Amino acid sequence: MEALTVLAGVLPIDLLIWERNEMFEELWRRPPTTTLKKEYRDHTLRFWQDIWDTIDKGREVFRVFLDVKDRYRKKWLRTTYYLSQLITGHTNFRTKLHQFGLVETPQCPAFGVEDTVQHILLECGRIEDLWLSLLAQLAEYVIETLDRHMTLK
Ligand SMILES: [Zn+2]
Repeated sequence: MEALTVLAGVLPIDLLIWERNEMFEELWRRPPTTTLKKEYRDHTLRFWQDIWDTIDKGREVFRVFLDVKDRYRKKWLRTTYYLSQLITGHTNFRTKLHQFGLVETPQCPAFGVEDTVQHILLECGRIEDLWLSLLAQLAEYVIETLDRHMTLK
């Protein structure tokens, strides 16, 4: 459950209730302000981080999102079905397929190491062409965008 909330970048409901309860006590003493809300949210995020640092579950997600505050503030990052599968390691990589008895070995056929999400994204040369293609498209997009802005001035 903790990994799911970090993955989605959403505060766990128990922490939200705890935060509101804590803030409610404070509201008797001073009026609510943006600063007060921010103070409590920062406090809650630190508390959430303490929990996230110490629990045993969801370590696949932990490897990607070490800092819950950083993940929480990346509202633009939408965790789609496929991205979630990738981050949690529930994809059709050989390690997973091997766990289900669907392939004989958990190893990457090209490099002979465990075929994990980390291997595919960071190490495996099998998708090098895909990375190069993405980089080329990104470079083209940046050049076109710069060109458009330079032309407008
Ligand atoms: Zn590989």
